[in-house]
Amino acid sequence: MQVDDLAIYRTIEHLSSYRNRYYASSYGRESAEWIRDTWAALGAGRDDVSAELFTGCTTCSTQPSVILTVTGSELPDEVVVVGAHLDSINGSAQGNLEQIAPGADDDASGIATITEIVRIALGSGWRPQRTIKFMGYAAEEVGLRGSNAIARRFATDGVEVVGVLQLDMTNYRSGDVADFKIISDFSNADLRSFVGELFDTYLLPLGLSRMSQACNYGCSDHASWTSAGFPAVMVAEPGSPQAPFFPRLHTTGDTLANMGDSAANSAKFARFGLAFIGELAKTSAAAGDRIFGDGFEAAGR
Ligand SMILES: [Zn+2]
Repeated sequence: MQVDDLAIYRTIEHLSSYRNRYYASSYGRESAEWIRDTWAALGAGRDDVSAELFTGCTTCSTQPSVILTVTGSELPDEVVVVGAHLDSINGSAQGNLEQIAPGADDDASGIATITEIVRIALGSGWRPQRTIKFMGYAAEEVGLRGSNAIARRFATDGVEVVGVLQLDMTNYRSGDVADFKIISDFSNADLRSFVGELFDTYLLPLGLSRMSQACNYGCSDHASWTSAGFPAVMVAEPGSPQAPFFPRLHTTGDTLANMGDSAANSAKFARFGLAFIGELAKTSAAAGDRIFGDGFEAAGR
């Protein structure tokens, strides 16, 4: 199976067809349930796959987060997380529940990228050695609330999280910029190095390039995991020479039509995500060797 731009496109198209995915609106809950159902269907027939709604966030209104778990075959207690936020917002709507907020790039693109990763990983019959949890977070746009609730819960429960990858805005690229960006702050230095090495092994040979940039604030859900003490990293679209991200985020103009009507950029992130879970979730590792594992053999694949 191969990454399919059109599959990603169709997921973005569906998610951006809701009036909004605002955390407190009925559409915010509906869209979360659609993601849960879609991910569950991709794991149908596998007894090591389960989908759930996480409702333990007390400040997320009626919007749940979504978690798809693929239980590890050999190291089920070691957890790899790949996440994106499922909510959207219109920055000038002042919380109106009927606001127009398509959020095609921010962050339907991240959810669609994860959906494609799941489709290919599960469709090919792949079984990870470590447990993987794919997450769609609630209420990111109002202060990283969904991811914070999950990360705090995992810390309280003593869950051993070996690495967290955040995908927030993967679909906009314009002008003379790299293909892929690693966010350099509010993240784990070893995991950033791992991501760079992984990119150079799997995507550089495809002619793709990477860059690094700071957000200068906790700009997405990776910051929740970082502050809860877990190794996390965020990757994102390169934007353009003029703007670090799609300039129309948080507006009614955050649409596929305004991003070249294509999901080609997100497809690069799906390829990267497959490499990430392939390497980080397949390996066995001793304590103290948690991020790189003892089987980082990307070059041989
Ligand atoms: Zn976002």
